[in-house]
Amino acid sequence: MSVTTFEELSLEGLQDIYDSEHQITTALPKMIEAATSSDLKKAFKHHLAQTEEQITRLEKVFDLLGEKAKRKPCVATKGLIAEGSEHMKEVAKGSLLDAALIEGAQKIEHYEIASYGTARTYARQAGKDDVAALLEETLKEEEETDQLLTNIAETVVNRKAAAKH
Ligand code: FE
Ligand code: FE
Ligand code: FE
Repeated sequence: MSVTTFEELSLEGLQDIYDSEHQITTALPKMIEAATSSDLKKAFKHHLAQTEEQITRLEKVFDLLGEKAKRKPCVATKGLIAEGSEHMKEVAKGSLLDAALIEGAQKIEHYEIASYGTARTYARQAGKDDVAALLEETLKEEEETDQLLTNIAETVVNRKAAAKH
């Protein structure tokens, strides 16, 4: 048993998110490529830049905790990305694939929202307010991204996807 304390459990969570963000930086360029809607491409590009900053932010978190930045393979993100890749192969390119890409991206955002929310709460609990504030910053970005994707789906993509038979 390698995790026996609350501190270790918190650290394990951060290592999981750190790996998750790296996986996302590899997946997003493929999603940008696969997207047709210019709004969606733009949103993915923006989030790729944001994700790179989130990695740097996590490195600051490890630093504040006096820990080495380490990746623990995130199995959930791997699975979510694999489902997205299936869609890219199966779904006809255009508004239908755009809808599927948004679906996949939002599943990842929700996983991140849960992970960062938990990590933020753990940090607060441990009295590490500086760490909690950094995690909260990223949490906000993930929530905003999720909302933006909902808006794009509702205003452009889904209507077009449903109109085509
Ligand atoms: Fe992220
Ligand atoms: Fe994970
Ligand atoms: Fe994200």
